[in-house]
Amino acid sequence: KGERLRLPPWLKTEIPIGKNYNKLKNTLRDLNLHTVCEEARCPNIGECWGGGEHGTATATIMLMGDTCTRGCRFCSVKTARQPSPLDPDEPYNTAKAIAAWGLDYVVLTSVDRDDIADGGAEHFAKTVSNLKERNSQIMVECLTPDFRGDLAAVEKIAQSGLDVYAHNVETVRELQRHVRDPRANIDQSLNVLRHAKAVRPDILTKTSIMLGLGETDRQIYNTLTELREAGVDCLTLGQYMQPTKRHLKVEEYVTPERFGHWEEVGKEMGFVYTASGPLVRSSYKAGEFFLKNLLE
Ligand code: SF4
Ligand code: SF4
Repeated sequence: KGERLRLPPWLKTEIPIGKNYNKLKNTLRDLNLHTVCEEARCPNIGECWGGGEHGTATATIMLMGDTCTRGCRFCSVKTARQPSPLDPDEPYNTAKAIAAWGLDYVVLTSVDRDDIADGGAEHFAKTVSNLKERNSQIMVECLTPDFRGDLAAVEKIAQSGLDVYAHNVETVRELQRHVRDPRANIDQSLNVLRHAKAVRPDILTKTSIMLGLGETDRQIYNTLTELREAGVDCLTLGQYMQPTKRHLKVEEYVTPERFGHWEEVGKEMGFVYTASGPLVRSSYKAGEFFLKNLLE
């Protein structure tokens, strides 16, 4: 007990860098955008920003500050009861910067702001509408908090002009309390996803699960079944990585073969899109998929 597992070889590989990477990297400096890609030192940055084989550059931008009102046991974001107030100019300025940056697909995400009446939904929605006004070509995914189950907040974002509504259930039903902040739970999260789909059946809904936290195969299977029943379209599965010693330990490094198995299961269950692999993250090469599908 207390021993840390060794990093397996498949997590040590170098990931290729796509052709747009340097261009995006060089133009980011003056734009004052906070990318999760850089701040979380995501290993996929070369591939996402570089655009992979279709040249579809994807990045994830963090809204509403760097301090969260919750404290999930897998997440290294700072926590406070009362983070700084929202910057009222952020929706405008961020939209302007993203539009100027040259992305094809952007994921807008945020910390949880339980200190604000609508959880920041209006702020989120304004950012999307400003961005779409400036650049109608860019595909926008919002990866949102659960808004403590406030469906009016979910609706505001679902109606903002986005293309994909994402909200992560993070882990299987049985491990919710162990992994997520006590204010989160899977039924509340399933309601968020179900409601987004109900108000905008034409958009895609998406969720993400981390593996390696001690979940069983049966628990994974059952959770995927529940997600399909809630009408979730897209699914990503990736390896949980412990950000610091104070966070939950990795219980298992799931092999690439097992991830492949879950990708097959996802396809058989009827998810429109399943990405499953040790380094897959919620936003991993999201643009690649959507461009490919639009071309088909
Ligand atoms: Fe950024 Fe997400 Fe890609 Fe990582 S997986 S580089 S956070 S868009
Ligand atoms: Fe991290 Fe999100 Fe949990 Fe906040 S709510 S601690 S940002 S995972």
